[in-house]
Amino acid sequence: MAGSGKFFVGGNWKCNGSKESVSKLVSDLNAATLESDVDVVVAPPFVYIEQVKNSLTDRIEVSAQNVWIGKGGAFTGEISAEQLLDIGCKWVILGHSERRHIIGEDDQFIGKKAAYALSQNLKVIACIGELLEEREAGKTFDVCFKQMKAFADSITNWQDVVIAYEPVWAIGTGKVATPQQAQEVHAAVRDWLKTNISPDVASATRIIYGGSVNGGNCAELAKQEDIDGFLVGGASLKGPEFATIINSVT
Ligand code: PGA
Repeated sequence: MAGSGKFFVGGNWKCNGSKESVSKLVSDLNAATLESDVDVVVAPPFVYIEQVKNSLTDRIEVSAQNVWIGKGGAFTGEISAEQLLDIGCKWVILGHSERRHIIGEDDQFIGKKAAYALSQNLKVIACIGELLEEREAGKTFDVCFKQMKAFADSITNWQDVVIAYEPVWAIGTGKVATPQQAQEVHAAVRDWLKTNISPDVASATRIIYGGSVNGGNCAELAKQEDIDGFLVGGASLKGPEFATIINSVT
């Protein structure tokens, strides 16, 4: 833990769940004993955000998994930052690899989304991470720094930003980065912030790890100096396991 805020654990539910399974997950989370010194956020699919917001303990904040790039209007199928805030949703995940690589969002588009969301006081979990072939070609830092630059070009208030390093090859694959691999990139990203933004932003910004985090591997990862929390996909759909990950803070 190097970022000066609290340990931060996000649960990214992706396009999973039903009213019934969401209700079960919320009751499991409400019943769990959670470390007080951890910020916890869950990101349900849009259609369940209000259900979660209305039934989940206030101890846990709610995030969206995407947002429109600007003010609402004639944009069929989109949801605006103002609408999210209207239903009590305080966060949004941006730059997730599934949106970059499956939906085709590029760095600039994602950067602009971040700028608009932050201008409306919606907080941002800004995701970066390299593909397997980029890692194998020795391009991990180049890719992550390029993605960081696109965010940085648009972001002015860093206090509402959490950075999530999620190597694409580790997401949903069961192939978690080793604590050393993750620590190496987190330290490099912190250094990048120091050089390109400011030493204060570098030390205050939380850099969390995502990619096959589970109840069994979280403790070792959490011990790394520059890992300030996690963004959890699959394991966040199981209340007790997600609680174990939240409580792995060291
Ligand atoms: P995973 O997903 O934990 O299922 O690998 C992480 C993420 O996509 O945020």
